[in-house]
Amino acid sequence: MTDCLFCRIVAGEIEARMVEEDGRWVAFHDVNPQAPVHVLIVPREHVATANDLEERHEGLLGAMVRGAARIAAAHDVDQDGYRLVLNTNAGAGQSVFHIHLHLLGGRRMAWPPG
Ligand code: 5GP
Ligand code: ZN
Repeated sequence: MTDCLFCRIVAGEIEARMVEEDGRWVAFHDVNPQAPVHVLIVPREHVATANDLEERHEGLLGAMVRGAARIAAAHDVDQDGYRLVLNTNAGAGQSVFHIHLHLLGGRRMAWPPG
């Protein structure tokens, strides 16, 4: 039993609206969406922040980004545009310390981000 929220979702102990999964990651809808499409792509392995990534994770990150692109296409936001966000540590807004890619799409995105 872990106290990490995303480890518990990956393990099926907490429900989430699943989108897609593969051997290395799972994707589910954010419970508090910030855009019409807001999906989280979460590695099965617990890695707390981007600062904790190791060389062996490089393939995992590539698989997550490719999965996000596929999910963007499935939700028909790939051509108009979408944003992938990986908040790192509290100052950047990270609130769950198990890395995750936010896939945001379906509305105009401002730059610079807030
Ligand atoms: P962070 O702030 O760490 O970059 O992103 C964490 C995200 O997880 C937030 O967008 C938040 O809405 C989402 N979240 C937090 N708790 C849950 C939950 O129990 N289920 C789902 N599906 N999303 C969650
Ligand atoms: Zn975790």
